Amino acid sequence: MAESSSGLASITQGCLDHWVIEAKARTYAGRLPDYIPLLAKANPQWVAIAIKQTSGLDWEAGDRQQPFALMSVIKPFLLLFLLEKLGFQAVFSRVGMEPSDQPFHSLAQLRQDRGFPRNPMINSGALVLASLLPGEDGATCAESLRQWLNLYAGSNLFLDQAMLASVRSLTNEANSALANFLAKTSHLAPIAQTLDTYNHICCLSGTVTDLAKLGLLLVGHSRISPVSSRTVNALMMTCGLYEASGRFAVQVGLPTKSGVSGALLSVVPGQGAIACYSPAIDQTGNSIAGLFLLEQLAQTLNLSVFA
Ligand code: GLU
Repeated sequence: MAESSSGLASITQGCLDHWVIEAKARTYAGRLPDYIPLLAKANPQWVAIAIKQTSGLDWEAGDRQQPFALMSVIKPFLLLFLLEKLGFQAVFSRVGMEPSDQPFHSLAQLRQDRGFPRNPMINSGALVLASLLPGEDGATCAESLRQWLNLYAGSNLFLDQAMLASVRSLTNEANSALANFLAKTSHLAPIAQTLDTYNHICCLSGTVTDLAKLGLLLVGHSRISPVSSRTVNALMMTCGLYEASGRFAVQVGLPTKSGVSGALLSVVPGQGAIACYSPAIDQTGNSIAGLFLLEQLAQTLNLSVFA
């Protein structure tokens, strides 16, 4: 690739294949999360990337057939759905817009904020938003979101029942504590259904191709209001990588969301979306190979929105 290349359109397949090989070599530095037993069974060396441009050009490399649970990468799409269905005021009367420097399931942060979740990208915020999904139980609420996303994005998301059983097999003390605190401060009810809805939506699954298709909903999509996509992109930029969000904004400079499954999605405004999957994660919960791939792409193609 030419050194002066600029924009997603300058990517070459050879370059992408080469970076995937380099990324694989870095997966050894990561770990698999074990608080969801099935996540610990993934092959830590899986690395996949899919790039979709608004022009219709697509690039893919690595283990791209491998499906994975979106986990926290569903959070921007939960937000997008509710912004489109309920509107800005209804959503932001329930959740804030400020970044947090605490881990994604921090009860200390929620206590400090007196039960008003700081943003939709941390678990407390996503729990409150999950309670707003239409449906009478976790399964139907998640199904509303799944169907809407597949219809609008053309993706093939499915509910991974084995992953859901695995999530349910161990009590998630941190999420239960958040839900209980939210209920006590009257920001949430009923607790059990909300936790179940949250668990269901975290287990919506697909491939990197599906995730890149979802990403295009945030890049000037004809059926999504610009206010909604701008809002989601801004919150992904400031809060999407948890306490690593600030550093990532400097190093990559793209609205991005990560999940503990090793999923990672970046939006390149006006150009397209980049989806990565590699299950070995760092201390903060972000995919090591995914971060490496995004850094290579952003720096080589000058993708940062701050350029
Ligand atoms: N289901 C996961 C949890 O709540 C999602 C966290 C994440 O992907 O960051 O722990």
